Amino acid sequence: MSKLSDRINNLAESQTLAMTKKSRELQAQGKNIINLSIGEPDFATPDFIKDAAKQAIDNNFTHYTPVAGYLDLRKAISEKFKRDNNLTYTAEQIVVSTGAKQSIANVILSLVNPGEEVIVPIPYWVSYIETIKLAEGIAVTIPTGIESNFKITPEQLRKAITPKTKMIVFSTPCNPSGSVYSKDELKAIAEVIIQYPDLYIISDEIYEFINFVGEHESIAQFDFIYERVITVNGVSKGFAMTGWRIGYIGAPKWISDACEKMQGQFTSGTSSISQMATIAAVKADPSVTIEMRNAFKKRRDLVLDLLKEIPGIKTNIPDGAFYIFFDISSYFGKSFENYTIKNSNELSMYLLEVGNVALVSGDAFGDDNCMRFSYATSEDKLIEAVKRIKEAFLKLK
Ligand code: PMP
Ligand code: GLU
Repeated sequence: MSKLSDRINNLAESQTLAMTKKSRELQAQGKNIINLSIGEPDFATPDFIKDAAKQAIDNNFTHYTPVAGYLDLRKAISEKFKRDNNLTYTAEQIVVSTGAKQSIANVILSLVNPGEEVIVPIPYWVSYIETIKLAEGIAVTIPTGIESNFKITPEQLRKAITPKTKMIVFSTPCNPSGSVYSKDELKAIAEVIIQYPDLYIISDEIYEFINFVGEHESIAQFDFIYERVITVNGVSKGFAMTGWRIGYIGAPKWISDACEKMQGQFTSGTSSISQMATIAAVKADPSVTIEMRNAFKKRRDLVLDLLKEIPGIKTNIPDGAFYIFFDISSYFGKSFENYTIKNSNELSMYLLEVGNVALVSGDAFGDDNCMRFSYATSEDKLIEAVKRIKEAFLKLK
């Protein structure tokens, strides 16, 4: 019998992190692995943000912080919500956490009772499902596909709702598909949700600034749904601040109060130094993020072009984030030496061991027909990676 709890035994390891761990191990053994499995910008955090952190240390911002975050930071985030998203969240409606990952966990653990259902469109970010499991909720997935640009329709959403449904959680721009919901598409989703009392939306907008098709749209902008939305955001992606561990929510006050209470028992307020750095980030003109966004777009176009040379794979054009979620199902059943590819997990192992490139299997995101390619790395590495992937694919007969 296991000494560990059922809770941890039933929890799956984060596949994005597991793949990254594996490629780091292989790199440490001297293997030349190109790691395209972790979703994080390769850019350094901008200097003015680092300077704010250095100042924070010198000014002794080294003590426990308020659980929900410094008031000055929450005020700065409140202004950011107004400036960039036309959303009104007062400082009391904002909770700053140790990454958006914790923000999402706070919300799910605060709202979902055992047996309640949470709708999760496929493909989903890996941690949604496992956090729902921790809350003893039931994830109800909605399939999509490359043909629909991996987006759900209002009709699909309506069909997935039952008397037990508590919320829907999704990201736009989406990890892993890069799909961006338009204002009209978000309104149509909101119009379905509003018909059911006590149904909530976690809108994960962490890729807000990595959008190649226009303005970012937040679902909470529609007044009729505002009270039902928890808007999640953070600085990891847009400001290249993954290691600083800052995420936040804007939400109705009763939900932000609950998240503050939850966090007070888990981590307390997040790092004082990271919070001071984040004030500089969110107060800055968003144009600081544009240079990185443009670099991502250039890389996306490069990789999409290169992937065309690999026979049998299908891609769409992702409108945001820094991932390409491509269909590899035509390779199922093919073999090379002692490898026979039956699913996306086997293909990701094959690509790692034979191609020396780490991608994440689509299975980790709910769609076994696909693989996720993170193009948040240098053009040289991307060119070399696609070359290796192509060679590995061509060996499969
Ligand atoms: N949501 C999505 C969709 C993500 O891709 C990530 C990346 N890890 C997160 C939330 C969490 O980000 P972080 O904890 O670094 O703020
Ligand atoms: N969100 C990133 C990814 O999807 C970082 C890893 C993680 O936290 O899952 O790869």
